[in-house]
Amino acid sequence: MTFQALGLIDPIQRTLETLGYKQPTPVQKQAIPAVLAGRDLMAAAQTGTGKTAGFALPILQRLTMDGMTAPKAIRCLVLVPTRELAEQVYESFRSYGGNLPLKSAVAYGGVPIEPQITKLRKGLDVLVATPGRLIDLHDQSAISFAMLQTLVLDEADRMLDLGFERDLDILLAALPKQRQTLLFSATFSDEIRKLAAGMLKDPVSIQVSASNTATKTVKQWLIPTDKRRKPELLLHLLKKLNWGQVLVFVKTRKGVETLVTTLQEHGISADSIHGDKTQPARLRALARFKNAEVQLLVATDVAARGLDIEALPQVVNFDLPTVAEDYIHRIGRTGRAGMEGEAVSLVCADEVDMLKAIETLTRQVIHRIEEPGFEADHRVPETGPKGVAAALAKKAAAEAPAKKKRPFTGPAGGKAAPGSVATGGAAAGGKPAVTARPAGGDASLGTWTPPAPSDKPPGGARSAGGKPGAGRIYGGAKPAAAAPKGAVVVTGGRGAKSMARTAGKAAAKPGGRKTGPR
Ligand code: AMP
Repeated sequence: MTFQALGLIDPIQRTLETLGYKQPTPVQKQAIPAVLAGRDLMAAAQTGTGKTAGFALPILQRLTMDGMTAPKAIRCLVLVPTRELAEQVYESFRSYGGNLPLKSAVAYGGVPIEPQITKLRKGLDVLVATPGRLIDLHDQSAISFAMLQTLVLDEADRMLDLGFERDLDILLAALPKQRQTLLFSATFSDEIRKLAAGMLKDPVSIQVSASNTATKTVKQWLIPTDKRRKPELLLHLLKKLNWGQVLVFVKTRKGVETLVTTLQEHGISADSIHGDKTQPARLRALARFKNAEVQLLVATDVAARGLDIEALPQVVNFDLPTVAEDYIHRIGRTGRAGMEGEAVSLVCADEVDMLKAIETLTRQVIHRIEEPGFEADHRVPETGPKGVAAALAKKAAAEAPAKKKRPFTGPAGGKAAPGSVATGGAAAGGKPAVTARPAGGDASLGTWTPPAPSDKPPGGARSAGGKPGAGRIYGGAKPAAAAPKGAVVVTGGRGAKSMARTAGKAAAKPGGRKTGPR
């Protein structure tokens, strides 16, 4: 299948040729014709699948073929949860629309609003925005939605996780009812279905394989260790496996900074990216990493959503994410567009519930490799969907009662790597999950071969992870406070005006809304 066969016009095809896109990805094959036909879309596609081009290309084509904008008006609005993603999606529109006479811009908080107002003055074809800043712009009457044709909600699940539900309500009330709406989400949770039901009309539904696509292409393994040993273990792995550039995920912003300091003290060049940093500082850190000026970029999950770094071979989960879906987003930073990638998690005993949730969601038991000298004093319990790992370990123990630890054995009777053990490595599918290929310069660290996924998920996508977003909010985001039943609560500060307009009556309350990063 070619892009031409999907009905894309010449100037777009030429751009894609320049970019080296030879054929459409699965999500593009389905989304492009549907969007060109003016249909609403509900797509389960995570980052790394080519989803951005899946919506950007047909939108750009429709905007080119049909009409012009007017002062302050926008014709397409792309709502995204984070500043990084906003920048990335905007860059995609600029790049895909390089041969088209269209104007696009990006708007998010944490930077002065005036330049954004200036850009809007003459009108835009495409605006990529985070919800909070968009409400601010609307409150200041800097933007008109009267000409809006298409609304895209990108990473809608993340928007809900970050507490943007109320902002979305405000914005949806302000947008014209007659429009095309495209909703992209990593998963179709109940919350997303509810949101979709309220905003989509007879949508084409697209599901690009399971939500664990990345888990099939990215080699994953974990090293059990104690929490306090993690910095030392990371330094050890960097040296031992001769890693080049690594993206490291840490749970908290404070944790990020502490790790960066430790790394720098050991002569490793590292920078950080998280919600406490200003947007220019975040972009600077990302640019330094992209330009290979720093070896390690240490990030929280918020940053993960917008990072598209070409040929990133290595991701390290220094901490496991609190929300299982974030694991997929994190490891999706590597192995992009068919490249090889590897994701290593350093797991301590008190992360075992998070590990279980991740393994349930991704339908796999992540292969464990003990690193000699870093074994956990606080043992990380065996995990695995439906207790597969525990059962297998029990079986192995019964078969070989004399052996405490089972050595590596590759599928073809591969030689055991010295010092390495496979615990819980066999997959639900019953296949041997280990090849004895060293991941780097040393034999003790092997590389895991993904098992065939089992037919049925052992639980619902979110069943083991608890409520999405519960307990995890990075980047300064807080869920909007729950309003008493039936009450119309209009807070002061940003959005009050829009909300008042929407609700028809207002009881402005000082204190301001608190939502996610803008
Ligand atoms: P996305 O899922 O939109 O974040 O895209 C992931 C990566 O895939 C980006 O770096 C895109 O440039 C790249 N990409 C998107 N579509 C294609 C394609 N058809 N062929 C090759 N690369 C692509």
